[in-house]
Amino acid sequence: MIRVGINGYGTIGKRVADAVDAQPDMTVAGVAKTRPNYEARQARERGFDLYAAVEDRAEQFPEAGIETAGLVDELVADSDVVVDATPSGIGAQNRSLYEKHDTPAIYQGGEDADVADVSFNARSNFAAAEGADHVRVVSCNTTGLSRLLAPLREEYGVEKVRTTLVRRGGDPAQTDRGPINDILPDPITIPSHHGPDVETIFPDLDIDTLGMKVPATLMHMHSVNVTLESEPDADEVRDVLAGQSRIMVLDADLGIEGTGPLKEYANDMGRPRGDLWENCLWGESVTMEGPDFYCFQAIHQESDVVPENVDAVRAITGELDAEESVATTNDALGI
Ligand code: NAD
Repeated sequence: MIRVGINGYGTIGKRVADAVDAQPDMTVAGVAKTRPNYEARQARERGFDLYAAVEDRAEQFPEAGIETAGLVDELVADSDVVVDATPSGIGAQNRSLYEKHDTPAIYQGGEDADVADVSFNARSNFAAAEGADHVRVVSCNTTGLSRLLAPLREEYGVEKVRTTLVRRGGDPAQTDRGPINDILPDPITIPSHHGPDVETIFPDLDIDTLGMKVPATLMHMHSVNVTLESEPDADEVRDVLAGQSRIMVLDADLGIEGTGPLKEYANDMGRPRGDLWENCLWGESVTMEGPDFYCFQAIHQESDVVPENVDAVRAITGELDAEESVATTNDALGI
């Protein structure tokens, strides 16, 4: 069993912990948190050993009646791989901790690409992370775009990508985020950082991205145009995309007209926390105009990177190849 420590137990960390726990070849060595809040309490309820991430605040846990197993330093020493799911910028500060213990680490997309030796998406460049010590799982949006572009590049070749990302203002639990009543070009300058981030996965890709933020918490929405190097018909492209294990092509019959019913669908399917680990792509939106491909896809920001973190663990440890790892992860989670 690969012992995986999770440092940072918030939106991403708690989901990665559950996903690791569900794998046949991994176990959760423990999770580290800064504060004894409701998530810390739930970590213990789920049977995970809890470590204090900040020494000065370690006493707060027993004061709140929550048992800890030690300090994060001990968790890192006891783990084969650490998944760092701390807020943007903290992961880079934590790198020296992982190096001190010679423990390979996985960082999240909020970190700059240079935090790690390689940026990672299982469908696109699993092999690049094999045996690496420091791997960055790219952001939710970059993950969603990479999953879509990988098969299009392989099947048809890609000349140019133009994408507008309509991004949720914050996650449901982020009470301090916005906008509340506005539509923001974000950033106002073009391109947004997302295009260059996708290029950390596909260095030779020609991609321009525009970003916006809207008063929503449920998901992101991508409006995608890809100029292909050939002119397949839309049905063929839709079939290729439907054949991807982490793209859910939504049939018109489902009557899902937006991210609200999509999240409801996830709840109805019994998905934990209403998570949608796959890109959710409207089949009817797949359109070809000459070599130009168009579609809408929704990305569940809280969960699409979760299976990618699990696969990154296997890439680092070299246990399974890309196909075997993705199949194992999908099977364990129910993707
Ligand atoms: P979050 O704020 O929900 O969770 C972060 C957790 O880390 C919190 O529990 C916080 O208390 C804890 N923490 C803070 N400082 C710490 C420290 N020094 N040591 C250990 N733990 C510490 O954040 P999140 O949304 O889970 O984001 C984590 C990372 O994942 C970021 O890089 C983010 O950009 C990336 N990411 C987030 C999303 C998303 O939509 N939420 C999607 C993809 C990637």
